[in-house]
Amino acid sequence: MSPQMLGDFHVHTVFSGHAFSTLQEVVVAAQERGLKYLAITDHGPARPDGPKLDYFKNLNRQDTLRQLPGIRVLIGVEANIINPWGELDMPEKLLHELDIVIAGFHNATGYGGSSVSENTGALVKAIEKNRITVVAHIGDPRFPYPVDLEESIAAAAAKGVLVELNQSALHTWKDANVAHYERVLELLGKYHAPILMSSDSHISYSVGIVSECERLLVAHGIDPASTVNYSEELIQQYLVPQYLVPQS
Ligand SMILES: [Zn+2]
Ligand SMILES: [Zn+2]
Repeated sequence: MSPQMLGDFHVHTVFSGHAFSTLQEVVVAAQERGLKYLAITDHGPARPDGPKLDYFKNLNRQDTLRQLPGIRVLIGVEANIINPWGELDMPEKLLHELDIVIAGFHNATGYGGSSVSENTGALVKAIEKNRITVVAHIGDPRFPYPVDLEESIAAAAAKGVLVELNQSALHTWKDANVAHYERVLELLGKYHAPILMSSDSHISYSVGIVSECERLLVAHGIDPASTVNYSEELIQQYLVPQYLVPQS
């Protein structure tokens, strides 16, 4: 029997505006897939169709969601880097109160970086000065914000911030996306950083599905079971706040 993936840490609900499933639908989908961890990470409020700050504050109070049997739900955000100083679209206090913070560049958020050096500077500053758990789709060619991958991944690795492989980017298997994530993989190896796979699901049917990330890993001789997603120890080290770690 192949090992069971334990967690998906990048998932959207209908509150992201351009996603299609409710919170309950994505949680049930994760349970049906046998996941033990699921992070709800809707887009930060700088996206025109994203939820307002109050959504995150109110969701964060739903402790029953953190206490479901058999699955550990983390309440988080996919925050936007909004300026060259690496600021995010969420107050620092709330970033610290959420269980998990993914951050990256997205269109239509007010960010207007126009060069690799400006984007890299913004990303590195964001990593260094904010509480970030995961960098979302780093330098992804789908967005007009290319970064110096080596400088960015070195900064993330130095701070213990994970860099994801993104199923949503890879599922079209376009050459540019594949080549991009191959380079990400190479640099994660160079900086001895663990690999995280994310579905970046926008509908419940794709929660926990990272088949194209796994395909990329296998093509490079890496066992998907060696990623953070399959390791209780790495999940607790990198992704789960101490207050949510079950005490044995
Ligand atoms: Zn994103
Ligand atoms: Zn996303």
